[in-house]
Parts: sequence; C-alpha cells; structure tokens
Amino acid sequence: MGQLDESRFETAIGGGCPACGERALEIRTFLDRTLVMMAGEPNDAGKWAHDGEKFVDGTYRIACTACAHVVFASDACPRCHAEGGLSRALGVASRVVVPKRCASCKELELLAIALIPATTRYVAGETPKPKPLADFGDAGYHVVAYACESCDAAVVAQTCPLCDAPGPLRPRP
Ligand SMILES: [Zn+2]
Ligand SMILES: [Zn+2]
Ligand SMILES: [Zn+2]
Repeated sequence: MGQLDESRFETAIGGGCPACGERALEIRTFLDRTLVMMAGEPNDAGKWAHDGEKFVDGTYRIACTACAHVVFASDACPRCHAEGGLSRALGVASRVVVPKRCASCKELELLAIALIPATTRYVAGETPKPKPLADFGDAGYHVVAYACESCDAAVVAQTCPLCDAPGPLRPRP
C-alpha cells in the first residue's frame, strides 16, 4: 500500500480544497508508461499503463489549483517509501539503460516499462488526463524493466527503480 490508498485519497480530496472549496486539484504522481524501443531509443512517446490504484499509489503531492493550498505532500520515495527518496527520484536520470540490441539474440526492438512523474488536474468523479513531467532521458524518467519478445530475455531494476534504495520492494496495488 502507498502513502495514500483509495479511501484515504477520496476522504482527503473528494470534497475539493479544504481551504477554499475549489474542486480542481493538481496531483503529481509517478505513473507507469510502456515504450517500444528501437536501437535504444523510444519509437514514440509511449503509452500510459497505470490504473486508478496505481495513480493513487504513486501520488507525492496534491495542491489546490486556485489557492495553492497543499493538501498532501510527501518527500519519501513514491515507490519504496525510503525517507527523502522523492528528491533522488526526481533528480536523477534512469539507472536502467535500454541497450541498442537484445544482449541474447541481437534483436533491435525491445519493450520497456518506465515510471515517470506526471501532473494532472483532478476533479472528483472525472477521469484524470495525466501529462508527463519528464521526457525520456531526463531526470525523473526511470526505466523499470525491459524485455525482448523474440527470445523472452528480460532485465529488471535490482534496486528501487526511483531512488536506488536496496530491495525488496513493497508490492504495488
Ligand atoms: Zn484552495
Ligand atoms: Zn525508492
Ligand atoms: Zn532477445
């Protein structure tokens, strides 16, 4: 379970900003993104691959869009909850680097999954439309794992993919 679960999340912000009553809040969260990689570079911007529980689980900041009141903020790592891990997660580029070719079969196309920071305007009852806060290669954009469909070889980050704390990682919802 994350810092927030869905019921705490709804209780905290279901009624909008507790300071001014504004319904729209800005949420920052780390979300899953899948990428098709060709020779070490993404083919396109990739696709979101999270669900509602993961959206809540990765949340590290919630603030009002009208009065800037901070409803929730945590500087722990959003993935493993290591203290102070958020600044390491946001300040460092991906430690897992996708190679140009599969090390086993030399295939050029690899599938990668990343955890990346995103921002979204959130109104209770509406589906959020997150926007990435980092591009591939930037600080904060962390490849978690990649795999080759031709030979089933796979590489997974051995430490926390966000802050580099040693495992084992807590399970995600
Ligand atoms: Zn407000
Ligand atoms: Zn971590
Ligand atoms: Zn392969």
